Order: sequence, then structure tokens, then C-alpha cells
Amino acid sequence: MRRFKCLIALVFAALVVVACSTSPTGRTQIIWKSDAEMEAQAAQAFNAMRASAPLSTNRAKIDFVACVAQAVVEILDPPYSEYEWELAVFDEKSVNAWAMPGGKIGVNTGILEITENQHQLASVMGHEIAHVTARHSNEKASRASLTGIGIEALAVILGGGYSGGAYTASQAMHAGAAFGLSLPHSRSQETEADIIGLKYMAKAGFDPRASVDLWQNMAALSKKSPPEFLSTHPTNDTRIENLISEWQETLPIYNKAREDGKDPQCEKNW
Ligand SMILES: [Zn+2]
Repeated sequence: MRRFKCLIALVFAALVVVACSTSPTGRTQIIWKSDAEMEAQAAQAFNAMRASAPLSTNRAKIDFVACVAQAVVEILDPPYSEYEWELAVFDEKSVNAWAMPGGKIGVNTGILEITENQHQLASVMGHEIAHVTARHSNEKASRASLTGIGIEALAVILGGGYSGGAYTASQAMHAGAAFGLSLPHSRSQETEADIIGLKYMAKAGFDPRASVDLWQNMAALSKKSPPEFLSTHPTNDTRIENLISEWQETLPIYNKAREDGKDPQCEKNW
């Protein structure tokens, strides 16, 4: 019996050793799911949402989001620069944006009401793209399946529903939710996405100080009607202070990018 227990302990230890990795900011992550599988599921969920949820037809809004997204994606290093980044702009009032493994980005037009300019939208984009490059979805999914939430089971439902082709728009959004988009990121993931996101936006020539305005807008809105974004991106009182404390590192990156001619011109033309 003792030998059996020991064996179980060894197997568990081996699993933990295999599953441990380090995030871009040096945080220990328990990730044991396959990135390729996560990416395949994400692509399926993204296609389902695009096929069924209301896509924006407002050219100016789509161009604005695409301009900012492209500028940020362009500064990524391999392997992320080699991803097939895809963007969908949904005609949805709820204030939300998200990104999935493999580089699928969703933006609701609602968030454009609170992002006052390209720099603020770049704060959102940098943050979302950082969730992808830091493998946060895989980390969430690995944790969820260990705790029995069962994203995989939901993904199977999604598969069935999608092949049936009978999704309503809201079901499609929930399909994305089932994939794990509705599971909140952890506070440590949020902090990490903020730090990496600031570097991305700065490198692309967007002013990282705009991230503070964005989070102030988000905070002001949450007093009236909490943005959906905050349900999946938990925040805390120190977020803005933390963002400001990163300026010392990110402003030189921004200044250098501007010197190197990075000067994005994404405008709200509507
Ligand atoms: Zn987040």
C-alpha cells in the first residue's frame, strides 16, 4: 500500500514537473494542455462566433480597430509574429474585447465608446495580445480542468452545436464563453498582461500613459453599469498605480519607437 501511495506521489510529482513552465515575466505557470489543441479549439470557437454573432458593418469602426491591432501585432517577435492573427469586430453594445490562443482577437463595438483614441484602444489590444503570448488561456484551461470545471466538455458541446449550424448569435457568443472566455483571468495574469501589453503598445508607437485613461474610463463606467470586460478581467485598486510605476520602463520604449518612425495614425472617423 505504501509503495502504491509512493507511486501516486511520484506520478503526481512528474506531472507537476512536466507541467511547470515560466511566464514571460518569470511567474511559474502550471500548463499541461497542448497549445496546438488549444489553438485548434480556439479557431473553431472563433469561426462559430464569426458565423453567427452580429459582425459590425461599420467600415470606419472596423478600420480603426484593424489599424490599431495591426500596428501592435507587427512588433511581435517569433513565434507570435508568425501566427495567423485574425480580428473580428462584433456589433455588440457590451464593453468587451478578448483574444484566444493562436491569435484570434474579438472586439465589441461597445468598447469603442470608452476608448477615446488610438492609444487607449492600443492599451486594450496590447493587454489582450499579451494574454495570448503569455499563454494565459492554456493556464486557465489547465487549472479549470484540474478543478473540474471542464472546458473540454463545453468545447465538445460547442463542436456539436457548430456542426449543426443552428446557433443563434447569443449562443455563439456563449460558445466562445464556453471555450473559456467567460472564465476570469487571475489577478496575476491581469498584472502580467498589463506589464507586457504596455511594452507592446509602446514598441508600436502608442503612448503607454493612455492605459491609465482607459482604466479610469473603465472604473467610471463600472459605477454605472459594470463593463462585461471587467467580469473576465478582474481589476483591483492598485492597477492604475501599477501601470504608472511601469512608465519608467515603457516610456523609453515609446520614445525610441517614435524616434524610429513608429507613428500610427488610426483615427476615429465616425
Ligand atoms: Zn485581461
